[in-house]
This record gives sequence, structure tokens and C-alpha cells, in this order.
Amino acid sequence: MIRLRTPRVEINLVKLAHNAEKLFNLYGSKGIGIMGVTKAICGGPEIAKVLVNKGIRILADSKIINLKKMRDAGIQAEFVLLRTPALSEIDLVIKYADISMNTEIAVIKRLSETAIKNKTLHKIILMIEMGDLREGISPLNLDQYVQDVLKLPGVKMVGIGANFACFGGVKPNEDKMETLSSLAIQVEKKFALPLSYVSGGNSANYRWFATADDIGNINNLRLGESIFLGRETLCRKRIPELFTDVFTFISEVIESKIKSSIPNGEIGQNAFGISPKWKNRGQIRRAILGVGIQDVLVSGLTPKLDIEILGSSSDHTILDAKKVDLKVGDEVAFNLDYGALLSVMTSPYVMKEYIHTM
Ligand SMILES: *Cc1c(COP(=O)(O)O)cnc(C)c1O
Repeated sequence: MIRLRTPRVEINLVKLAHNAEKLFNLYGSKGIGIMGVTKAICGGPEIAKVLVNKGIRILADSKIINLKKMRDAGIQAEFVLLRTPALSEIDLVIKYADISMNTEIAVIKRLSETAIKNKTLHKIILMIEMGDLREGISPLNLDQYVQDVLKLPGVKMVGIGANFACFGGVKPNEDKMETLSSLAIQVEKKFALPLSYVSGGNSANYRWFATADDIGNINNLRLGESIFLGRETLCRKRIPELFTDVFTFISEVIESKIKSSIPNGEIGQNAFGISPKWKNRGQIRRAILGVGIQDVLVSGLTPKLDIEILGSSSDHTILDAKKVDLKVGDEVAFNLDYGALLSVMTSPYVMKEYIHTM
């Protein structure tokens, strides 16, 4: 028997294509374009290609190295750097990103100089701080920033954007979207500057989109999690008709024995400096998986079987197998949350296996 190696993440490209197409059509029905956010999948070209084939022709990532990877693989898209560039990477930004998100004039000046040196035009979206308190310019200073950017050759301001529910957990509600819309109108009028992108947020904007009577001037969203995991991100509810199991993490049982449910001995600290406390469930089947937090964010895994994760060290994960008779060599499959997805896609220890059928 041929065994696929574990640990691995199985990526169902058919389900992925379905999610991408549904979201593209759903948002498109009210005139909202999508940037496909590839950071969770490290700019993997196999996945990027599926998004582009389904109509998502703008790909955004927070790492220049991922944009380069997709470009080098021949992916036909426009590439966006999803966060403000570091001053130490300006050359690479000009080379590999068509557009970047910006909040600092010092950075935009360097982009301008480098673009001119390279005889190119770099596009800029200004990010506005609207309460979530991650990146962004205060709305009060927006006019000044636009004025300053318009004076710089080699860069072209093509839009404004805002980010929500990432750091402060602030919801992109109708009120916030109206404010962003009116800022866009204000900039367009005052500077006679048409904005190609009024980018209202990310996967957290689903509820606003689904319930708003009027989406105002918002014409773009940047979507990662809802494409990959089929969920909106305010309550992590499944979006109707989308697959939540595009990605499956597969691990393998390396030991399975009936043992006590509580440790025997004087309790000190475990591998992570914690003194663990356990419930006594009597004798249980303890199955050990050959993976740990060096491979995957174990807390972000949900077993597909009725079993329970008791905990993990760097390289072992301990299960209470409950009524499942897990044996050495058995594969154990898990659904992933966003953190677990990030971790397996980033980990060199986890194989990536692409599935081309339902
Ligand atoms: C990560 C990120 C996104 C995508 O967020 P999802 O919740 O995965 O849709 C969008 N915009 C910015 C600025 C981001 O950093």
C-alpha cells in the first residue's frame, strides 16, 4: 500500500474554485470588485491560479516575497502589497507590486524616487484609520496627505481604503461604510481625482454587504478567509453555499494505548512553562499524533471524528480517542481555523497536497 506522508494539508482546488466564483458573483452583483488576499496561503501559485481563473484578477499579499513568487510563476494578475512598505524593501516593492497600501509620507516619497529611477509608475491606496487602530491616516489629515501625494511624480493615487475587525475588533457597519464613502466623495470632488478603489474592508464586511440597503461608493473588498474557509469573520458564520473544508489537515497516529487520564507524579511545569491541570476521566485511549505546535497551531484544529485534543508539545499531540478505536498508522483529519491555516501553509514540515476532484 502506498501511503501519503503526514503531516499534510489537503487543498481541494475544486471547492476553492467554487468559493471564489460564488464570492466574485455575489459581491459583483452590487458592483463590488474583489482583491484576492493570498497571505494565508503564502502566495501559493496553484491557489492563485484558481482565483484568477474565477475572475479575481487582483491579488494582494502583505509579503513582497509572496508577490514575487506569484509573478515568477507567471500568474496573470495585478499585484497589491497589502500593507505599508518597509523602507528597507522599497526597491522590491517597485519591482514586484503594481499597487501598495500606504500611510506614511516618508515611505511614499521613497516609492516616488525609486519609481522614477526605474521609469515606472507606482500606484498607491491610502489607508484610513477608522477605529480599528491598526494602520491608517486620520480622516482629519486625509486632505493634506492627498495634496502631498499629488505633488510627487512616479506615484499615482488610485484609491482609499480602511481595515476593520483585525486588531481592535471594530465592525465595518453601515455607519463606518458611509463615512468611508463620503471621504471618497470629498477627495474626488476636492482634487478632481477619480478613485478606482474605495476599499471598504475584508471578510468581516460580509454582514454589512448582505444587509445594507445602499453600499454607497464602496467598490472593493479584500478577501482572504471567506474565500479559503467559507466564513465571514465577525461571528465566523458560514457564508451560504460556500465550502468550509477547502483545506483539511491530515496527521497520523504514532502511539495508541489505554492510559490514565491524569498524570502520575509530582507536577511541575510542562514544555511551555505551564503547570497543567487535568480532569480525571479514569482510563482512556490516549492516541498520540506525530505533530505538534511546530507543525500547526493545534488550538485552531477541529477533529472531524468525535475525539478530543487534550494538548500538545512541540512535536506530539495527545488525543482522547473516546469511542474511536484509533490504531497506529491511522490518519486523523481536522478542519482548520485561520490561524491553523496560516501555520500549516507556512510550516516547511507540512506537505501540501492538491486535490482536483470533489
Ligand atoms: C489580511 C488582510 C485582509 C484580508 O482579510 P480576511 O479576513 O482574510 O479577508 C484584507 N486587508 C488587509 C489590509 C489585510 O491585512
